[in-house]
Amino acid sequence: MPSVDNNTIRTAIVNLTIMGKRVKVEIPVPEGFVRPTALLPIFYNLADIAADIAVDAAQKQGRNLSCKKGCGACCRQLVPISEAEKHRLRDVVSSMPEPVQTKIRNRFTAIERRLESEKMLESLLDITNLDVETRHSLGRDYFRLGMPCPFLEDESCSIHSERPASCREYVVSSPAENCAQPTAENIEKISVPAAASGAAYGIGLKIGEKPRILPLSLAMFKAEADTEMLPINTADTLEKAFRSLGASR
Ligand code: SF4
Repeated sequence: MPSVDNNTIRTAIVNLTIMGKRVKVEIPVPEGFVRPTALLPIFYNLADIAADIAVDAAQKQGRNLSCKKGCGACCRQLVPISEAEKHRLRDVVSSMPEPVQTKIRNRFTAIERRLESEKMLESLLDITNLDVETRHSLGRDYFRLGMPCPFLEDESCSIHSERPASCREYVVSSPAENCAQPTAENIEKISVPAAASGAAYGIGLKIGEKPRILPLSLAMFKAEADTEMLPINTADTLEKAFRSLGASR
């Protein structure tokens, strides 16, 4: 098995065009084989860049960004994450000091129990293949339960630098109070190109394998029985991902 630790870090220069704007990004890239979770920060960085560009374009059209620190209304929604993000979030929780770690783990357990008692747990464990209407319907049912994300503290994200791609790509220009009722009529989203999260979803998958999507709040479910993802070749993975993003270097 190739080594996955202490990889040399090199800097890759990537030119991207996002919403017609050319951006040059310097990306620290670990060489060789790595755990899939190690590549997520690269895509998180790209998701942040895409969100900034989308917000800037929206502001030029006279729309204002409503999202700000201390407003966590959207953090009660069903947040989709990928398999690699699930593993990264588990590492994030495991690295937390006590008693914070136990508090966060207890929150995850409380949500699992609530979903079980509402008979929603089974259908939420893998939402990959659900059709859009079923997923939206599950999302509405989930939101009605009013369960904050386990990482939400005083209406702010306590893992801001580690938040998943979908959190980074969800920005709105409708009034913040509308987020208490997140229906299509109430919410005006700022459209962020989701290519970075799409690439993040594909990390670590075998050829032909479809990404598995699950809710963030089930990231810790049966963690002890789960297996680690296999190490992947950084160069191959990034080459493929950046090609899908239309990048040049
Ligand atoms: S990870 Fe952070 S931003 Fe995402 S839902 Fe949880 S608290 Fe909100």
